[in-house]
Amino acid sequence: MSESRKTVALIAHDNKKDDMIEFARAHMDVLSRYHLIGTGTTGRMLNEHTGLEVERMLSGPLGGDAQIAAQVAEGKVAAVFFFIDPLGKHPHDPDINTLLRICNVHDVPLATNAATAAYIISAKAL
Ligand code: PGA
Repeated sequence: MSESRKTVALIAHDNKKDDMIEFARAHMDVLSRYHLIGTGTTGRMLNEHTGLEVERMLSGPLGGDAQIAAQVAEGKVAAVFFFIDPLGKHPHDPDINTLLRICNVHDVPLATNAATAAYIISAKAL
């Protein structure tokens, strides 16, 4: 079956996963209207803690961010909520930068922290 809802991507680094769960709980009504995709662990945790259905890509370090970047490049993603841990080191930094860059290349709304994500949701910008 083809997916007719718009797609929103949800990704959170380990130290930001609690923020992502809190954000998703606060905006369940809006998020549940979208086809949600996420990196592996983020998607699983969101499903377990909020009940939201999230189509899971690979875990970030295994290429999940790169998979999401490819979907953004193909015009399939309406917005990316990527809660980044600015204090951590990440083995997949090149993939993270690719995803950020591809969002900017294609002018796709991109929130890298919970405050900006809440603004995007409240502006009904999706
Ligand atoms: P994860 O990946 O959801 O599988 O933890 C997120 C990331 O580190 O990019």
